[in-house]
Amino acid sequence: MTVALVGAGPGDPGLITVRGLELLRACDAVVYDRLVAPELVDETPADALRIPRDGLLQKQIDDLLLALGRQGLEVVRLKGGDPYVFGRGGEEALALAEAGIPFEVVPGISSIAAVPAAAGIPVTHRGVSDRVTIATAHAADGSPPDYGSLVAAGGTLVLFMGLGRLRELADGLIRAGMAAATPAAVVSRGTLPDQEIGTATLDEIADVAGGLPGPALVVIGDVVALSGRLGLQSRRARLEDAPDAAHGLTDPMLVLDERKADEALASRAEARSG
Ligand code: SAH
Repeated sequence: MTVALVGAGPGDPGLITVRGLELLRACDAVVYDRLVAPELVDETPADALRIPRDGLLQKQIDDLLLALGRQGLEVVRLKGGDPYVFGRGGEEALALAEAGIPFEVVPGISSIAAVPAAAGIPVTHRGVSDRVTIATAHAADGSPPDYGSLVAAGGTLVLFMGLGRLRELADGLIRAGMAAATPAAVVSRGTLPDQEIGTATLDEIADVAGGLPGPALVVIGDVVALSGRLGLQSRRARLEDAPDAAHGLTDPMLVLDERKADEALASRAEARSG
């Protein structure tokens, strides 16, 4: 294997896959995007080449990967979220495939659902939304999204790269028939310690959240209303913060019975400390 297109996850360095981290720790060179956590780049061996892609055109990145790959180096191309979700990973893979350079794609946790979740928004919710539409607000040719089809799809709408044209997006959706009162959220720097969330009705979201820093995801739909109840608890919920629960408790009835669960957890804690 020479070149691996690795998804770094949405921001929090803990959200990379085991496979991705393994490859990073063993690579000769890493070519990384601006949005990936610096902690992950630091996981590469001390003598690895660390190459920021800042300022390179897509063609130059492709050529760089080909050049590194041809030298037989173990190369990691570290990309934000998932490599094949609005990240031009497909173009890099095509360049490698056409040049006959072996490559691997290691999926990442895309911001699609992870960023709304970090803001307390489940993108689907029984009885509230049974589908998700994912779109970019920033088409390759600069044309606006097809608002009519986005509205017709129903359910939850997740828009990438929409922060800079929030007003235009909201107006376009409302003109195409979406209710002005539809709940909307902008999640800025999702899963990172300085994450911020702006929520408002669709017609007011640009006023409320237009000034937030990027990267930001726009989420529109009734599921956004759940963020009030789920937001605080879900914020940076990490394994180490979770109660010691569940791992050793295989019988769900035991967990559902609070008294028994307390006893089981107490004896588990004792066993661990002893
Ligand atoms: N491949 C990435 C998306 C790359 S496009 C993925 O799968 O997530 C970059 C866009 O993704 C940003 O403009 C923003 O809309 C969104 N995004 C990525 N990381 C984000 C984060 N931590 N918080 C909010 N939005 C994010």
